[in-house]
Order: sequence, then C-alpha cells, then structure tokens
Amino acid sequence: MWNIGVLALQGAFLEHEEMLDRIGVSHFQIRQRKDLLQPMDGLIIPGGESTAIGKLLDDFDMMEMLRDKIRKGLPVFGTCAGMILLAAEIEGESRNYLRMMDIRVRRNAYGRQLGSFFTCDEFAGRRIPMTFIRAPYIAEAGKDVQVLSVVGGHIVAARERNMLVCSFHPELSDDTTVHVYFVENMIAGSGL
Ligand code: GLN
Repeated sequence: MWNIGVLALQGAFLEHEEMLDRIGVSHFQIRQRKDLLQPMDGLIIPGGESTAIGKLLDDFDMMEMLRDKIRKGLPVFGTCAGMILLAAEIEGESRNYLRMMDIRVRRNAYGRQLGSFFTCDEFAGRRIPMTFIRAPYIAEAGKDVQVLSVVGGHIVAARERNMLVCSFHPELSDDTTVHVYFVENMIAGSGL
C-alpha cells in the first residue's frame, strides 16, 4: 500500500487528499520539516500561491530537504503553483524555488482575473476535464521532458524522470486519471 505525502502549507491540499482517498491510496500532510523525515512513496505539491508556498518552504527550512529527496528519485506531482515551484525558470522573474525540472513556466499565463476556465482535452491520450485557475503553462521544455498534454497550443502537463506537473487542477474534478497516472506510472515501478 502506497503512502503519499501532501505538502500542506497553503493551497488545495485537502482536495488532493480527497482524491487519494477515492483511489485508495493512503496519505499524510507535510506541514513542517520533521514531516519530511517520514517515509513516503510519493509527494504532491498542490496548487495555491507559489510565492506563499515558496516563502514558507524557506521559512521552515524545508527547501533543500525537498530538493534532496526529489534529486534522489522521490516521485513528485506538482499542480499549478506546484509546477511553478518545481520549474528551473519562471519567465520574467529572477526568483525561482526548487529548480528541479527543466521547464520555463509563464505564471498567470492566461491573465490574472479572467484567467480561470474549464475545458476537456487530452492528457496522455485520454480525454479528461481540466480546470484552470490563474494557471501557468510551460513556455519551453528541455529535451528530456515528455509532454503529456497540450491545450490551445501550450504545454499544460509534462513529465521529466520522477517529476510530473500540470497547469490545471485534476483534484477539483471527479476524474481520477492524472492521480492514477502518478501512482501507476511513477510510484509503482519507481523502485523506491
Ligand atoms: N497563480 C498562482 C501562482 O502564481 C498559481 C495558481 C494556482 O495554483 N491555482 O502561484
């Protein structure tokens, strides 16, 4: 039975936990540095506000510890702000956070106020509902990045080694495809 840590500093972590309940995967909240010492098979970094989550990771001295775990192969799934936190580069900003994934992201890429919308499109070959909330997209992806979803000409989901990211919020729909993809393709068989 897998056990997934859900970063619970700010944002939509409860919705991810509900999704994990629905697919029968156990989970626990990561709120402080000591929670990162617990054994885990995977990690979810939720959507929310990347600046707020990034600041709390620094304040609680969790940034380097997280980086180290991801570098060592811990499967990680970042949604929306979670994608921004994992990106090597954030367009137009000198600041970045975990810098683990070879992507350049554009924050609030669809506009700040009216940038929220719903659509159905393909993720890894399956049509799924997608809710975008002041979402980023991937403006450029490195050569080892596998693109999993393109909406309106922009990359909105991708994978690099043990890292999966998406611009939209799969935890806000009834569709479990992306969470199941994370567990089946990235945790099962990761050899951890
Ligand atoms: N706009 C947010 C940010 O820049 C991300 C929005 C979200 O996670 N829904 O961090």
